[in-house]
Amino acid sequence: MILGIVSPCYNESAVLPETARRLTQLLQELEAEGRVESGSFVLFVDDGSTDTTWPLIRRLYRENPYVLGLSLSANAGHQNALLAGLMTARGMADAVVSVDADLQDDLSVIARMVDLYAEGYEIVYGVRRSRRTDTPFKRGTALAFYRLMRALGVRSVYNHADFRLMGRRALDYLAEFKERNLFLRGIVPLLGYNTTCVYYDRHERFAGESKYPLRKMLNFAVDGITSFSVKPVRLIFFTGLLLLLLTAAAFVYVFYALFTGRAVAGWTSLMLSVWFLGSIVLLAIGVVGEYIGKIYVEVKERPRYHIDVLLTDRNGKSDFSPEEPPAPRPEAGA
Ligand code: UDP
Ligand code: MG
Repeated sequence: MILGIVSPCYNESAVLPETARRLTQLLQELEAEGRVESGSFVLFVDDGSTDTTWPLIRRLYRENPYVLGLSLSANAGHQNALLAGLMTARGMADAVVSVDADLQDDLSVIARMVDLYAEGYEIVYGVRRSRRTDTPFKRGTALAFYRLMRALGVRSVYNHADFRLMGRRALDYLAEFKERNLFLRGIVPLLGYNTTCVYYDRHERFAGESKYPLRKMLNFAVDGITSFSVKPVRLIFFTGLLLLLLTAAAFVYVFYALFTGRAVAGWTSLMLSVWFLGSIVLLAIGVVGEYIGKIYVEVKERPRYHIDVLLTDRNGKSDFSPEEPPAPRPEAGA
């Protein structure tokens, strides 16, 4: 099989030569062992870098037969840059591995991914065994984020970043997702197919600094939640409902106060109005939000299904040989 490795790069000139060296070495080894065919490649995506990343990629392209490159006209962000790479590599390879340029992910795991692909897995997630190399802050926020995602009903693989192998069939299906707010970690589990995980330890960045400051991380988290869940809207509705119930309780209390003479004139009606109107307003916002949520889901124009295999050719029936039974499907990240 032909393997493509896609790596988004934003101002990564400090690590790029080393990344290219290691990935080339990996491909050479895999080729020598007959695990990938010649024609396998590394595709560097320059995400509108402002340093010498692109000239570096161009030089690597000239000098290194394994290296391909593409340059985006402006900084489109990690997820979009990755998608650009995946969609470019899709027609050129049987399977594509995406990996960050900063060498934090363990490249030796890629060989495992290739083997699992050969065993019939269409998607292989690279999952971090521990978060030892992270600051306690990043570890804590990441954990809270995964929990929240799960509570809101978004399926994502725990401790998996964008280090994964995807076969061409999965990529073809991914191409049908038209949304602008791209959160690949949420979309990929929706694709189905046989999936599995490989575990690895994450290193420190090889060189350069993180391109994900807290601000970007927060944006990314909000994006991840709001792109996949309209539950926050429903929460407004149910808060309204709860307040309406509490209004009933307030009703009882307020009249109790009135009849026991503890209420000042006008207080009773005022209290009841506040509670009642508050709950009605929230309920109304929730109802409107529910429709906006529907519109939101519609405008994304996500595919409703994706046909993997079609057995409709009546003439092909005679020379049809049943395939081997599919590999078992372990629950991703369970
Ligand atoms: N990246 C990118 N565009 C951006 C930000 C980051 O292509 O706008 C790339 C970056 O070059 C790296 C990967 O995305 O290859 C992950 O970024 P980084 O390592 O800075 O994130 P962290 O590992 O700190 O979360
Ligand atoms: Mg990194």
